[in-house]
Amino acid sequence: MSDIIEKFKQQDQAARIACQYNSVPDSVPRIALCLKAMRKDAVTVDLKKNPGSIKAHYSNLQTCGSVWACPVCASKISEVRKNEVDELLQKTESKHHVFITYTVPHYSHQSCKIVKDLLMSSRRKMKAQKKLKSQPDFMPYSELMKYYKYDGSVTTVEVTYGVNGWHVHAHELLIFDDEIPELEQQKFHTIIQTNWERALRKNKVEIHNYQAFKKRAVITEFLTETGKNRYSDYLAKIEKAQDTDNAWGIACELSKSHLKKSDHTEKESKNITPFGMLAAMAQDHSLYDEWSYIFAEYMQTFKGARFLFFSKGLKKKYGISEISDQEIMQESDILASLYGFFEKSEWEKIKAKKLRAWVLDNSDFEFSELLNRLRPQIYNNR
Ligand SMILES: [Zn+2]
Repeated sequence: MSDIIEKFKQQDQAARIACQYNSVPDSVPRIALCLKAMRKDAVTVDLKKNPGSIKAHYSNLQTCGSVWACPVCASKISEVRKNEVDELLQKTESKHHVFITYTVPHYSHQSCKIVKDLLMSSRRKMKAQKKLKSQPDFMPYSELMKYYKYDGSVTTVEVTYGVNGWHVHAHELLIFDDEIPELEQQKFHTIIQTNWERALRKNKVEIHNYQAFKKRAVITEFLTETGKNRYSDYLAKIEKAQDTDNAWGIACELSKSHLKKSDHTEKESKNITPFGMLAAMAQDHSLYDEWSYIFAEYMQTFKGARFLFFSKGLKKKYGISEISDQEIMQESDILASLYGFFEKSEWEKIKAKKLRAWVLDNSDFEFSELLNRLRPQIYNNR
């Protein structure tokens, strides 16, 4: 199945869930209108092609700009964000970069919101830590930053779900003026780890398996000249439309996990991403009841949260433009050329027959040929 068709299918699932769990009476969630409802001033639904593009995109339709819940908006937004990180890496080429991943120990009884809040507040606590009179050897995070001349950072949060519940982790790309020589890297890592553990303990996070914690709670990577760009992928990529079969397999396995609790430790690595849940539900409707509830919890937890966070003043310093997720989705396509358009009545039929993605996927044909192929599908009553 093409990527476009897969993403729209996942979007339909997310919209269905958003409507079902909508807590605002008499309202339609934006995702349910995304690339469905026409803009207020629009008369037709237009299809446009960017210079050099083979496939068209819609114009004159409302978009939701929800980077967490909508796979279609997410893919466009994350592409722009990835370019921002690439630009930052390029403009700070002469500096030094460290990529750190922070994880909170989590348990299946915890809600998504609890794990997310613990991660966020532990990060704040870690950054605010002061020197300790009782432990003169302890170097607070802020001092470590000062020592290597911290310049700024970009942070993102990622979520998956597995037998041990919600797994929320943060990736942070740090920029330093000073190099961290190889001989000092292990010490750097240990200081971060000690600070992180302290912050978690302040938040009363239970650490059941200390060995696993030591191994996984903080992962530090010192970036070398080559291969820096893969970190922008890491940071900006929410997910590619998930490999459906794989997502379905994991979803089924996790669904049955309550039947085989003893396997938990082995299965720990088999986590599913939120868009993977959508892919699994789209493939097998019997999974909807269980997974829609879990996805709804995630969606409510992350609603309105920022996806990629540049530290204060960093974008300005390196001349990277400020653009919101909404603005990315509404960006005018001044350079795009008109490929074709649909009257409102025809668009209603396309939506009803769930052919929104099909139209885009077939837009490499001449528009007249696309219509020849489309019309039998929308005017038959089967
Ligand atoms: Zn959307």
